[in-house]
Amino acid sequence: MENKYEKMWQDIGLDVPLHKELLESINKSFNATVGAQQNRPLGMKYFDQVLHESHGGRVAELIENKARGNKTVGTFCIYVPDEIVMAVDFIPMPLCGGTNFSVPYAEKTFPRDICPLVKSTLGLAFSKTCPYAPIKSMAVGETTCDAKKKTWEILAKKVNFHVMEVPQKKNDLDKKIWREEVEEFKNKIEALAERKVTPEKLRQNIKIMNDKRRALQKLGELRKHDPPPISGLDALVVMQGALNDEPVRFTQNLNKLNQELEERITQGISPFAKGVKRIMISGTPSVMGNWKVHSLIEKSGATIVVDESCTGTRYYENLVTENDNNIDKQLDALAERYMKINCSCFTPNDDRITDAVNKVEQFKVNGVVHYILQYCHTYNVETLKLDAEFKKKNIPSLKIVTDYSEEDIGQLRTRIDAFLERLE
Ligand code: SF4
Ligand code: SF4
Repeated sequence: MENKYEKMWQDIGLDVPLHKELLESINKSFNATVGAQQNRPLGMKYFDQVLHESHGGRVAELIENKARGNKTVGTFCIYVPDEIVMAVDFIPMPLCGGTNFSVPYAEKTFPRDICPLVKSTLGLAFSKTCPYAPIKSMAVGETTCDAKKKTWEILAKKVNFHVMEVPQKKNDLDKKIWREEVEEFKNKIEALAERKVTPEKLRQNIKIMNDKRRALQKLGELRKHDPPPISGLDALVVMQGALNDEPVRFTQNLNKLNQELEERITQGISPFAKGVKRIMISGTPSVMGNWKVHSLIEKSGATIVVDESCTGTRYYENLVTENDNNIDKQLDALAERYMKINCSCFTPNDDRITDAVNKVEQFKVNGVVHYILQYCHTYNVETLKLDAEFKKKNIPSLKIVTDYSEEDIGQLRTRIDAFLERLE
């Protein structure tokens, strides 16, 4: 049966038969993980839909926005301030890939031994199966890791590309550099839009993004309950949707879901029994298409109650000061908020360590799973510092280094089962 978006995909130059295979592969993985869960909140229907429409209805919205004279800006990291893009009615769109399907297309030209997130992203673009690649007007990279920053040099030859320098320390000088980067980014966006970012528009969009973060924070609070009213895998699906969906609509639907979750708590409804083992995921992001480790942990009988990652608390935990009506102050506030993100590219990154230990206490976590994408050296090495602190507090941890393939699933299941048995 022909998909209703087939013409749109053809028009934007996708390889339609290969794109069909990609969607089938993602659906298969979705059905075996997210779709296989029991006792899901009814409100998850919307977020499943966000996912299924990410290559359909959402792309159509971006094309409509373009027809109105507005543009899409592709991003690869939560350090890029969406508020500035939105202040000129552009749409920021994360381009990170979470599917193994596209990895071989990147490996044809790029080294195999780089992170699967980078390879999946590039593979989608190279195989003409990423619908965002042809419609974006600019891409914004950053200097958070070596694989990414060297990739930008190659992509910049082909597309309109801007690189933000994310400093690697958090001293006063670094904060000054970052503030300048944020201002330069604003100038770049203004040049592309051929209009100014006004304080009023920036204020409106700071509020929109803060409202989204508040709704995600509320979801985080509800997951503190024993048993949590929602699985960690479903919370991840919500988070993945946060990166793709129109933010006002997303927040409205998340507020509705949160209400339902409150009712489930009152009625004692949960996919888990009281006393279920509570896990914190800590480390690299799990972007759309990647449900592997979350699903394995919950199929083994534990639940994930918090994600200390960029598809978790690092995305939503800090708000931007609202109500400033002066562009300089607003840029100060944005730079300050984004600089608080504890990415492992910083050295030292002690705030992340303190924060992770606090989260274990706040969420009554029984054990931590370090989730590390293969070849992500900064997160991998940083587990040593985290584990030293966890050990002092008798917090058990398990390190999983993996890619997007299914080859290691059996081995991971055995290791996760053995780890869960160790937990009190
Ligand atoms: S882990 Fe670091 S590089 Fe990746 S999205 Fe988060 S802040 Fe950006
Ligand atoms: S997971 Fe690590 S290696 Fe991969 S893109 Fe993010 S920071 Fe870079």
